[in-house]
Amino acid sequence: MMETKDLLKKYHKKRAFDITEEPFGESKKTKVKDTQIFVIQKHDASHLHYDFRISVNGVLKSWAVPKGPSTDPSVKRLAIATEDHPLEYADFEGTIPEDQYGGGTVMVWDAGTYGNVKKDDDGNLIAMEDQIEKGHTTFILNGKKLKGAYTLIRTQKGKDEKWIFKKVDDDEADARRKPTSTENKSVLTKRTMKEIKKESEKND
Ligand code: MN
Repeated sequence: MMETKDLLKKYHKKRAFDITEEPFGESKKTKVKDTQIFVIQKHDASHLHYDFRISVNGVLKSWAVPKGPSTDPSVKRLAIATEDHPLEYADFEGTIPEDQYGGGTVMVWDAGTYGNVKKDDDGNLIAMEDQIEKGHTTFILNGKKLKGAYTLIRTQKGKDEKWIFKKVDDDEADARRKPTSTENKSVLTKRTMKEIKKESEKND
């Protein structure tokens, strides 16, 4: 098994930790079951997007979703795989300095736990890392804004790995809800993007 330290190499390389307030993150060997969390961070960088992250074997596997998640099962959202983040990143909210990697304001838009539900032909759960490796993963989100099953399907391999992020049609599916436009506050601090930005500037 790969060490968490190695998994965070890209994350560490991209950032200057004496300048950004983002967590450095420790090398952690956690049991998968202890840390099945997810977070969606609204990120007002050069292009506004939503970062979807789920904990898998001690790191947060991450995707940037330009249009954010939808609760409508007929809507497919593009998701671009990004570097693994440390688990500590799930609580990060603030403003990354403009001249730094990912410069802009970050909000914890949604957070909660997730459950692995995908089974093989023998009825055994398929480990999340194996699902991601194979490019097709299904999980149940139990967040404040998003609930129910979602799926991530890889459509393009390589340097810019592209995936599709979509709601599975279940009881929590709702074509009329538009949470990215109507539910605009942090689930961590109840703040708006503007308020997070303002308070970050005050603390400089
Ligand atoms: Mn981002």
